[in-house]
Amino acid sequence: MALHQLLAPLLGLVAGSALRPVVVALAVPAGHPPSVTCPACSPLPPPAGGLQALRLLPPDGRCPACRTPLGAAWLPEVTTAAAFAAVAVGGAAGWYAAAQYWLALLGSALLLIDSAVQRLPNALTLPAAIGTLTLLTVAAAHHEHGSLVRALAAAAAAGVLFTLLALGGMGMGDTKLAVSLSALLGWHSWQAAFLGLVVSFLLAAAVAAYLLVARCGTRKSTLAFGPFLIIGTLAAALITST
Ligand SMILES: [Zn+2]
Repeated sequence: MALHQLLAPLLGLVAGSALRPVVVALAVPAGHPPSVTCPACSPLPPPAGGLQALRLLPPDGRCPACRTPLGAAWLPEVTTAAAFAAVAVGGAAGWYAAAQYWLALLGSALLLIDSAVQRLPNALTLPAAIGTLTLLTVAAAHHEHGSLVRALAAAAAAGVLFTLLALGGMGMGDTKLAVSLSALLGWHSWQAAFLGLVVSFLLAAAVAAYLLVARCGTRKSTLAFGPFLIIGTLAAALITST
């Protein structure tokens, strides 16, 4: 195993701890401003809300002052470490790998936020899309193995598909996320882009069926689709990396 494959999960732990205040700040219901105030000891929103969000929080998920739980212990840290480890195992190199790590980082935050409050904030989906397309453009400029035209075509196809699905009730956040993820997989191959979507929909269908059978959900209850898109993309990237 190469050195960078051993270092990737450690880097993920560090990146995940930087991600924790972002996850806490953005995991709020739609229409609410980002906030990392503690409900127990600082009920008032901070005057400069944006800067407050950059404050680091300890990995035990508790308020540093009064120990009230603000989030799950070690969850962003371990999620990001696992995502980085998976990217490292895939073995991509160069700027294409940088694009994968960028999406692994923002995807970890989006997965946790969507699971918690069923939304994919623009504050993360837009940097994810812009960063991915920028890094893939740089990869193309360095003549790395892959195709920018195919990445853009896959992103456009996913954009059209998910915009149509949004008419049927899926969120526009899913559209923006699918554009980034399909661009990344499309850079590699059409098979990867197609597989990513198939795995995402199969996983979501399996979980929805399980919830119906277990009577935890009803036909009307909504299931956050973002986590399935992210896990499906990771699976497709790993399957097609060999
Ligand atoms: Zn507190």
